[in-house]
Amino acid sequence: MTTNATPSTEQASTTHTDADMKITINPQRAATLTSNLEHIHQRISSALSSQSSRSSPPRLVAVSKLKPASDILALHNPPTSHSHFGENYVQELLEKSKLLPSSIKWHFIGGLQSNKATHLARDVDSLWAVESIDSEKKATLLNKGRAERNDRLSDSTPLNVFIQVNTSGEDSKSGIAPDSSELVSLAKHIQDSCENLHLQGVMTIGAIARSKATTPETENEDFICLRETRDKLAEKLGIEKDKLELSMGMSEDFEGAIRQGSSEVRVGSTIFGERPAKKDAKVLEETEAEKK
Ligand SMILES: *Cc1c(COP(=O)(O)O)cnc(C)c1O
Repeated sequence: MTTNATPSTEQASTTHTDADMKITINPQRAATLTSNLEHIHQRISSALSSQSSRSSPPRLVAVSKLKPASDILALHNPPTSHSHFGENYVQELLEKSKLLPSSIKWHFIGGLQSNKATHLARDVDSLWAVESIDSEKKATLLNKGRAERNDRLSDSTPLNVFIQVNTSGEDSKSGIAPDSSELVSLAKHIQDSCENLHLQGVMTIGAIARSKATTPETENEDFICLRETRDKLAEKLGIEKDKLELSMGMSEDFEGAIRQGSSEVRVGSTIFGERPAKKDAKVLEETEAEKK
């Protein structure tokens, strides 16, 4: 039962933006999600233990796209208190960010359209990073949106951004070519002309075939490529290479990514299960009463 004073006529509406809307968590579902997340943490630890030179574990971004707000809240609540979540669609992220606590650190990891960039950075208050920048134009628009958000909230924290690199060279993947001068000029543009952005690192998705073929003996070429690209970029920018993070590794290949020095893995289906089709996805699940 909601206890706020929403007029009853609005209760059947499908676009809920009321931050007081009660999100119901199914305890069984919460237990499953908590155990899945715990299992990923264990796999991350064992992948790390094969790496003697490393100290800190990579950040784990739980990719919650197309999954309901209740799943996110189940993992954000104690005892798990997980805070980094990844989303691919601007509208869905906006809805979730309004419903869920502002202590969540959102990552936008999906294909970014220029016409949504300002909106994304301005209106998702607790946006922590945008990982899919591939043009100066998008950087400029994100910078503008972040400035507007910071003015409104009297905040001066910059938005973290990653440049997406197309390490596999597949036409279907977005991102900048690893060896291009465009990569260096985009990084310089972010550093020098976007005062509300912070260049956090580089990101790749990588080819499915390569992630399937990854074993401790056959390392994933996409991850090697991103690491080398990062090293060269840091040199050209005149900064230490560990000042630029590597966002790489998903459900199928995050252990291989960690072996190549990943600073951040983005894991979705191994935590949340298979995703529904986009048209069937719901931010708020139906309550029992609404089910037909
Ligand atoms: C969906 C997605 C993920 C998570 O993929 P899983 O295979 O479900 O772990 C990670 N990164 C990006 C960019 C994605 O779009």
